[in-house]
Amino acid sequence: MPEIKPRKIHIREILTAVAFILVAVTAAGRLFYLQIVSYDKFRNDTSGSISSETGIKASRGLIVDANGIVLADNKTVERVFISPADMESDAERQLVSDNLSRILDVDYDTIYEKTLKKKRKDETIKKNVEKEEADMVRAFINKYSLRSVHLVTSSTRYYPFSNLLSHVIGFVGSDNQGLYGLEYQYNEYLTGVDGKIITAKNGLGQDMPYDYEQYIEPQNGYKLVLTIDQTLQSILEKYLEECLEESGADNRVTGVIMDPKTGGILAMATKPDFDCNDPYVLDEKSQKKLESCEYEKGSEEYLQYNTTLLMEMWKNKAINDLYEPGSTFKPLTCSIALEEALVTHSTPFYCPGYHMVPGYGKVRCHKTEGHGALTFDLGLQQSCNPVMMMTAEKIGEDTFYDYYEAYGYTSLTGIDLPGEAAGIYHAEKDFNNVELAVYSFGQTFKTTAIQQLTAVSSLANDGSLVTPHLVKRIEDDKGNVIVDFETNIKRQVVSKKVANEIMNVLEEGVANRLGSSNAGVKGYKVAAKTGTSEKRDKKDKEGGYSLRVASCISIAPADDAAVSMIVIVDEPTLSREEGSMIAAPYNSKIMSEVLPYLGYLPEYSADDEKYRSVTAGDYAGMSVDAASESIKKLGLTATVIGTGGTVRAQMPAPNTEMTVNGGRILLYATDDINEKTVTVPDLVGRSVQECKELLSGRGLNISLLGTPSSSAACYAVKQYPEANSTVKEGSVISVEFRITELDDHTLLQD
Ligand SMILES: [Zn+2]
Repeated sequence: MPEIKPRKIHIREILTAVAFILVAVTAAGRLFYLQIVSYDKFRNDTSGSISSETGIKASRGLIVDANGIVLADNKTVERVFISPADMESDAERQLVSDNLSRILDVDYDTIYEKTLKKKRKDETIKKNVEKEEADMVRAFINKYSLRSVHLVTSSTRYYPFSNLLSHVIGFVGSDNQGLYGLEYQYNEYLTGVDGKIITAKNGLGQDMPYDYEQYIEPQNGYKLVLTIDQTLQSILEKYLEECLEESGADNRVTGVIMDPKTGGILAMATKPDFDCNDPYVLDEKSQKKLESCEYEKGSEEYLQYNTTLLMEMWKNKAINDLYEPGSTFKPLTCSIALEEALVTHSTPFYCPGYHMVPGYGKVRCHKTEGHGALTFDLGLQQSCNPVMMMTAEKIGEDTFYDYYEAYGYTSLTGIDLPGEAAGIYHAEKDFNNVELAVYSFGQTFKTTAIQQLTAVSSLANDGSLVTPHLVKRIEDDKGNVIVDFETNIKRQVVSKKVANEIMNVLEEGVANRLGSSNAGVKGYKVAAKTGTSEKRDKKDKEGGYSLRVASCISIAPADDAAVSMIVIVDEPTLSREEGSMIAAPYNSKIMSEVLPYLGYLPEYSADDEKYRSVTAGDYAGMSVDAASESIKKLGLTATVIGTGGTVRAQMPAPNTEMTVNGGRILLYATDDINEKTVTVPDLVGRSVQECKELLSGRGLNISLLGTPSSSAACYAVKQYPEANSTVKEGSVISVEFRITELDDHTLLQD
């Protein structure tokens, strides 16, 4: 950024500048106050040497989301200081010490000692003084027309959303310099350049006109306008929290939502997180680790461990952590084979449950009994490992490696955050047929979440790989655009035709419940691929290799993608470990809120229609006929209780979400409302049909969440209210369904 050159200016200009600044300050409450101007005595002799400089702090640039919502702001605080050189008597010294001690709660003697440093013009009494106290100091100065007490404003960083986007925004140190995240990455732009007033004086002490020599205006820091959307970020974080709780992930969870066409990151989060305003406070889990550590509290080792935990907590899992992607890589293997015209969608394969890899032996399919005869497309949809290995053999090591590079795995994505981890992979000369076999289903190499999402997202961008980024543009404080970050297309990896075809195959797999089904969203076309990778370099507590990374990438709308998303659950401990069972359901939940927010309306298929939900209206006070008609229009049934003509009460309550099919609203057309209560049955583990029957048998409604299906593999995993609670007749019980899949589980062990 440009250097600010000091310039000589005349007194009139100074007065204008000062007046302007005062107006600006009064309006914005930001820069500095009258006291800074009254600080230096105005003397009439310009022959004296320069004796004092008063700094004028530049404001750190704001960080705002794509819609202008401020994510990193500045808070004005003030510093109170005295100029002992300007104190004319001991009475003044005592007066100042006494009052400041009282107002600022600073020891009298401490202040008095400072007043005795008679040559000093700037002795700090208190920093970070908030407005209320500062106003009291100002009143004191005015009351006695003091020239020896001053205030100067400074600003400190303030993050209005605390934990939101913390791993991306980062934080600043006590000197307001960026230490982490975007605050660090763009520190040069955010900092600005401080200004100053340089004053000359002589020793005569006459009160005469101004003789400021120089006034150097501060240049405020530039503003970062992010591609992040605060609403989408909130949606992502809400569900990642829930996912962390359900999975008990030992090594954190992360998620990224991206615009696959521009590479703009719409949301990015890691859980647990931290408060940007208080980054040195450990999250709950890390704090427990610290408390239960073997080191003596306060010892050097203890402090060292605390630092280690902080560093771990601050790491942005989406870009700083490496993992083996597993089956989410399979769409790329398939794209290579199609691009090279080595297969067609209907090429027949046969999976006996394993594939013999020369020089290694049997590598199993997750379906140990084998998929049997299947097409290339089904191989991808059902995530068959032998199909991938046989496909990779057709591709060959050299060609595969070329595409591996073209998809970006051998270089950084170049995302604008510090510390992007470089992938770990075999050098081309070491890439033999065994590596080829296991790379084909995403194992034995490591990448980051952002790398994986970016590579797969190219399929949603007609085959073009883009650079992911977080800053859309940089503006100065007048709104002029300093830098505009446009979409950076790195290269076309596969043709538009092949990219679109892979998207179709994935979308069809989800829609037809062939694989990755739990990532589906009712009413929308979603392409998705789940993955469950084995950790081969980290043993579990028993010394075995049972640790897993569950993940899912989903893209929607599949035919004209607006968003691509990755969710990674690292070492689930409380839930099932497959990406299909613990990551994909969260892709679905997040996507089901993201798509309507972005303006995409659902279009229900005949199958979706069976599970569609509506919101109950408010019928109280309506005539029974009108209410019944309105309920019928929603596709629900009305049951009238009592013989009155007006609805007095209803069940479920207004605005309750409920499934249309079989849904029933009770209308009480009587003054004697006697609502029956019923006990909620235990639904977990049951099929959709069983749940519906059990509930309707007790006069209860259902709201089908997740991916309800008539498939035998689909069952209830959660319900609310819980089993055995007592509710009113007609209440809605929310039940979340998932489809059991083992479709993504890679088994390297024989
Ligand atoms: Zn198979």
